[in-house]
Amino acid sequence: MFYRNCNLDDDLSQQGVFLRRYEYLMWEEATPTVAGSNWEMDALEVGASLGMSASAVLNRFSAVYTMWNLPATYKVFRQHWHLDIPRLLAISSALSEADNYPQYDEAIAEFLTPSVEDEAVPSARQIRNFIRGLQEPFDQSQDEEEDQLWVVPATNGRTAVGVVSSDATASLIRERLRAEASKGDVPMGELLLQMLQGNTKVMLNVYEDASGTIRTAAGAQFSEIEATWLRERAARRVLSRDETTDAYRFTSRMRAFIAGRDGHCRYPGCTVPDYACDIDHVLEFDRGGKTTPSNAQLLCRHHHNLKTYKRLTCSIDEHAVVTWHIGEKEIRTTPGGVLPP
Ligand SMILES: [Zn+2]
Repeated sequence: MFYRNCNLDDDLSQQGVFLRRYEYLMWEEATPTVAGSNWEMDALEVGASLGMSASAVLNRFSAVYTMWNLPATYKVFRQHWHLDIPRLLAISSALSEADNYPQYDEAIAEFLTPSVEDEAVPSARQIRNFIRGLQEPFDQSQDEEEDQLWVVPATNGRTAVGVVSSDATASLIRERLRAEASKGDVPMGELLLQMLQGNTKVMLNVYEDASGTIRTAAGAQFSEIEATWLRERAARRVLSRDETTDAYRFTSRMRAFIAGRDGHCRYPGCTVPDYACDIDHVLEFDRGGKTTPSNAQLLCRHHHNLKTYKRLTCSIDEHAVVTWHIGEKEIRTTPGGVLPP
């Protein structure tokens, strides 16, 4: 099985495979095998040969080192040659924040292995999001000594106010504000103030698995303190993939299921999160498409428009694999959320 960018019958894909392989092997040869010894100097020398800055070279050394420390991922990479330099850099930079990162090797290798023929290779941003989601949420109870709120004077009579939270909460707040701000003229700061004063109601879907872990649709984990808060206050619903209606609009339970299944926009490589996406009838309602999760996908506004204007067509199968038809070519995406399809 191969990713679409490694398709054996596509000459352009095969040239891409060749270039990625050649470029990576060049970096592997240029990377000093003894870590740390004289990296700065080595990077300057390599940079001189290639017309690159030492910091760009150091990032590539780190990318090669990361591969050497992830045997399962390295094996998959050398089987497919599906990852270009930006994707390799995404892996090493996402892991640079993690302790003992070889423990994530198997999970990363699996994420970077195609599960259907002609699947879209994960984008650099998708890879970064996935790896961040693997890491344990930070333990807030350990953090009590430190300020979780900071207020710092900024320039031009402004002040920066920040709050330290888990990745899950921060990404929900930021993306939610962005989605709200894009609807109207109210600036994000004003929206945040309105939310703090209780003047806006915000509804968010989060998902609890059998073990009680609470995650966002895309998989970011809440800290234990946040999870306890959510368990006490959030309204619960049991979701079903089989729900259906004769109406055009998806019910809110269906929307919650589809968001949790897909996680983000289903266009190849897109990472727009669930709450900023529309729900799309894969087979259009007026052409007989049902209003039910098995005929639905998340699409960001941009990709939804692209589809609606018929520049692209797609179909969905019983495992919620979406096949996009782009000109003469086909490319597939698998659901990226926390709920099984
Ligand atoms: Zn999109």
